[in-house]
Amino acid sequence: MKTNNLGYPRIGSNRELKKANELYWTNKISAEELLSTAAAIRKQNWQLQADKGIDLIPSNDFSLYDQVLDLTLTLGAIPERYHEFARTNNSLDLYFAMARGAQKEGQDVVAMEMTKWFDTNYHYIVPEFTKNQKFELFSTKIIAEFIESKKLGIATKPVLIGPVSYLLLGKEKEEGFHRIDLIEKLLPVYFDILSALEKEGAEWIQFDEPFLALNLTDKERNAVTYVYNEINKKFPTIKIILANYFDCFGENLDTVLALPVHTLHLDLVRCSSQLDDILESKLLSKNTTLSLGVVDGRNIWKNDFTKSLATIKKAIDALGEDRIMIAPSCSLIHSPCNLDLETNDDTLTPEIKQWLAFAKQKIEEVTLLKSFASNEQEAESSLRFIENTVANENRKTSKLIHNSVVKNRVASITANDSKRKNTFAIRRKKQIDVLNLPLFPTTTIGSFPQTTEVRSWRAKFKKGDLSQEQYNDLLQKETEETIRFQEETGIDVLVHGEFERNDMVEYFGEQLDGFTFTKNGWVQSYGSRCVKPPVIYGDVSRPNPMTVKWAEFAQSLTPKWVKGMLTGPVTILQWSFVRNDQPRSETCTQIALAIRDEVTDLEKAGIKIIQIDEPAIREGLPLRKEEWANYLGWAIKAFRISASGVKDDTQIHTHMCYSEFNDIIQNIADMDADVITIECSRSQMELLDVFADFKYPNEIGPGVYDIHSPRVPSRNEMVKLLEKASAVIPVDQLWVNPDCGLKTRHWEETKKALIEMVAAAKEMRVTV
Ligand code: GLN
Ligand code: ZN
Repeated sequence: MKTNNLGYPRIGSNRELKKANELYWTNKISAEELLSTAAAIRKQNWQLQADKGIDLIPSNDFSLYDQVLDLTLTLGAIPERYHEFARTNNSLDLYFAMARGAQKEGQDVVAMEMTKWFDTNYHYIVPEFTKNQKFELFSTKIIAEFIESKKLGIATKPVLIGPVSYLLLGKEKEEGFHRIDLIEKLLPVYFDILSALEKEGAEWIQFDEPFLALNLTDKERNAVTYVYNEINKKFPTIKIILANYFDCFGENLDTVLALPVHTLHLDLVRCSSQLDDILESKLLSKNTTLSLGVVDGRNIWKNDFTKSLATIKKAIDALGEDRIMIAPSCSLIHSPCNLDLETNDDTLTPEIKQWLAFAKQKIEEVTLLKSFASNEQEAESSLRFIENTVANENRKTSKLIHNSVVKNRVASITANDSKRKNTFAIRRKKQIDVLNLPLFPTTTIGSFPQTTEVRSWRAKFKKGDLSQEQYNDLLQKETEETIRFQEETGIDVLVHGEFERNDMVEYFGEQLDGFTFTKNGWVQSYGSRCVKPPVIYGDVSRPNPMTVKWAEFAQSLTPKWVKGMLTGPVTILQWSFVRNDQPRSETCTQIALAIRDEVTDLEKAGIKIIQIDEPAIREGLPLRKEEWANYLGWAIKAFRISASGVKDDTQIHTHMCYSEFNDIIQNIADMDADVITIECSRSQMELLDVFADFKYPNEIGPGVYDIHSPRVPSRNEMVKLLEKASAVIPVDQLWVNPDCGLKTRHWEETKKALIEMVAAAKEMRVTV
């Protein structure tokens, strides 16, 4: 029996990688310094796993920015528009230019598109394919990292995204082909990689094919069969681990069982039933090993050893220990690094802390489960086993978790609670009268730059170096300046800037009951951006108003409308570590009621426009289509519960980013927000077509510039995008705004960009 790990967090327990990347991007450290930080993190991760007793330790799970972009470079699938840049820059800067765009010395390239990795909050860089796409071994990162690990005396298991999933993760950039058609051209480059790794002595290779958890077409399934048979023919002695995670194999199971691979990895947290299906299947070959993903890589709860051991035992009884591996359910990049760093008893009380496990602890759980599984007697008398049982029992009965007032309120929700009083058509007339906005009204998505200064105030306040009053004064000053800037720029609907918020979910979680926080529980979201998801451990309620004071203050400064700014229930749920002891829908409804109270309090305070951000609705979609209707049912209802307590003339906005809407446009319309703003610029307004085809009835603000890049867009570019939008959406339904909040930007580029944006809107007003 072996222990197998699929991937380890690469940000570093103290976000060393984030810091080094950002220093490199601002020319404060050299490439060598960045690369040496990266190497130190890899070494630390490998060493930790080796010390804990992991048999199959991953390499190439490290990435400076994103593992999909790494593979794009490995396979030489560099889009045409970077070729000129590539000629005059080194490969590191090319890599970052593809990730983030680049503007330097007359060169100006935009970033590649970014989208969510399956149903996680991790974002990857979307590969782009053309009909005559060529592939070649361009970067040898995977080989270099294997050699690097060998030199440290740790023979790792290189990990790479399988060819079918790689193609499916991408996008066709021209008509006339399906990207899966490229498989025969792509495979030879994988062969090159495998040859090189084999020559270096790699024994195991992990291929991630997470698309096997989705509904595939026959053609896509056939590609899987083709790929792994070809690989087996050419490399019969390399031990291939085929990893699937986040859901069941579903109807792909028979195809998968017939593949000539050494090991199949199963996510038994997301799909526990598949173990029985596989063990009972006649198609399971006598040689296949199963890697049992029993430790949850997506959540922070301590494993239930009794339950996991029962699962493992069942598999051992059927296959024998030699054909079993114990593993986390998926890569641990979705888990925070190390629970040991949580030393603040005020936020994470010892009672709650004992219920949790982060990446390092999960690695220990995997190795403990192996030793307990091979020696049952040892298990029962082991302190670690007893400690695990006690912690899990305590969690089931803890008084911290259950609140009957909340449970009763959820139980007495009626149909009217999720409906506005009147239809959009009626509301709209009243809103037009009250709000009196021009055509192409301009607004922003909420946050303004969270400068180092702003963050330093918060840090000082938390440390006690600033009093509450001093901290508030500074935030008020920043808010006021931001209001003045928006007034001067001529923006129509203002925002207060969200300076008081550390994060759009954490800020709310801190003020809601049933939430707690970690000090160091960071998880990579994209590139150098990390999030620290709150932990929802108990029933959720809102003891006090959360945002009213800031909205009121900002509104008091200006005769223009200031938009109240909230995070929606689905996003709060989705971006938190969620209870696994009750359905997600139940937790979401509890949050929805808390947000509803905030919305009505904002209205009472005179705020006429309230935005409830729901960027995470789409990522919450289950991977398998059969489960969509159920999820969308409760998720959309939760949004409506949060939004429906207000009068007709209060305008509700919602905002979503990185979404594709084609298959959920009806549900988006069912949210019935008066205005929706969406991320659109990286796709050149393509995302808007589905709203046009659907004849989306409410108002819509397609983002006109990319906020993930420091690049300043020109007025002309934005006019072009707005013209494109006007061609498909009636102009009186259109708003003008950036793609998303501006918190990650600097003031310099923000000011320039917004001035151009307002100019673009004004130009549209006179030309239409
Ligand atoms: N209001 C948030 C902000 O501007 C929205 C962020 C988001 O959609 N991710 O920061
Ligand atoms: Zn956004």
